[in-house]
Amino acid sequence: MTEFVDGWIFGHTLGEGAYGEVKLLLNKSTGEAVAMKMIDLEKHPDARQTVRKETAIHRMLSNPNIVQYFGKRSEPNMEYIFLEYASGGELFDRIEPDVGMSAWEAQKYFRQLISAVEYLHSKGVAHRDLKPENLLLDENDNLKISDFGLATIYRMQGKERCLERRCGTLPYVAPEVLLRPYHAEPADIWSCGIILVALLAGELPWDQSLAECPEYMTWRNGKYMSFTPWRKLDNSSLSLIRNILTHSPSSRCTIQDIKRHRWFVKKFQKAGSIEGYIRPDETDSRQVLEDENLTRFCLSQPELPGIETNTVQINLEERAGFSFSQPAHIEDLLLCTQVQNKFTQPSQQNTFQRLVRRMTRFFVKTELEETVKRLINSLNNESYTCRINDCGTITISSMDRRKMPLVFKANIVEMDGKILVDFRLSKGCGLEFKRRFVKIKSLLEDIILKGPVTWPIAVATECMP
Ligand code: ATP
Ligand code: MG
Repeated sequence: MTEFVDGWIFGHTLGEGAYGEVKLLLNKSTGEAVAMKMIDLEKHPDARQTVRKETAIHRMLSNPNIVQYFGKRSEPNMEYIFLEYASGGELFDRIEPDVGMSAWEAQKYFRQLISAVEYLHSKGVAHRDLKPENLLLDENDNLKISDFGLATIYRMQGKERCLERRCGTLPYVAPEVLLRPYHAEPADIWSCGIILVALLAGELPWDQSLAECPEYMTWRNGKYMSFTPWRKLDNSSLSLIRNILTHSPSSRCTIQDIKRHRWFVKKFQKAGSIEGYIRPDETDSRQVLEDENLTRFCLSQPELPGIETNTVQINLEERAGFSFSQPAHIEDLLLCTQVQNKFTQPSQQNTFQRLVRRMTRFFVKTELEETVKRLINSLNNESYTCRINDCGTITISSMDRRKMPLVFKANIVEMDGKILVDFRLSKGCGLEFKRRFVKIKSLLEDIILKGPVTWPIAVATECMP
């Protein structure tokens, strides 16, 4: 196995970002896992400033529903960002295309999302790219906001500034962001509303919230009831969504309004639970923890002197409020010793075989060569462009129905004597990727091994750089 630095070895690729891959790193002696976002500055010299801002903001944050930042390492042509490893994969993977998920599950994730966004806003931070692809899950299925690449500070020392930059991912972007200037909080809240539609209906309501978009105008005009996705939703979720997806940001509901809404507070029954048993409200205890952190954090955290500069220093001794576990020996990873947090107890992770919960994969009955042949044939028949690299990774490209590029990768690996075909989104919309996966799976139905889905499962280590 390739070593990154002494004591830390590479695991598999977790995902792909705009400027490079995100890889798993494992500590040889403790088995602890860290996600490492790699930014290739040679290929993307413009990324230097972005990374500086992303890390300056991310390091301010400490919340159970936000991926924890551990530190970064700067080399002449590479930046490495070390993050809490979210082993549950991405939220979009839990959304069944055109169906969504159970109300219970959607409410759980939505409550956690709102709790994290409330925390972010309390810190004066706007995320600006909230979408299911940037919402990860931990081993207990708790939602974690990630990717602060477009985040910004909109309130400092109690003074709010309006934002100017048009950014985000079009279907999730609020109408005022496209017109500018805009207030940060309602814009993030809008994206949460689109996420809620995706969770409950498995589709996005429109390409963009502009007058040119007929689906958006139908919604704005209130004549949407016979159309999808709205007709799939019940009255109470629709009422909440109507309050969030209100065109005018000043009339849009606030986080406090959302938290009081009847859909948000309702107790849904967990599918498959014993009749009459309602799972205790998880957000209550989470909220207490969060409030505690918030109070302590506010007392101890120095004001950010200026996010555009590289001068942010956080005094470890002052950061008594930090409470999330961080791997031991993290300092080995941080060349420039930007140690973020006080060291705490190592977590329970003690195996080199990390578990990844991903649903976009299946085992097949066929041998490796036959599997590759069948997959490539099916992809060609569906007019995908395919490319295989030396490690056997197949890169599959096409355009989605919004005419946006969609790129995903398939790895065919042998595991426990069986062949696993594992798909991962590389670029584009997570929901579209899920739709394509379902279609490809149906084309290979005759070779797919039936039986209970065996996840979580270990994933073999891929080619190393
Ligand atoms: P983009 O601009 O395409 O959103 P990015 O450069 O901002 O990408 P991220 O969104 O931070 O990169 O990461 C890309 C992908 O890597 C994620 O969608 C996720 O699949 C995976 N990933 C990122 N961070 C983690 C983590 N902490 N744990 C597990 N997987 C992660
Ligand atoms: Mg991202």
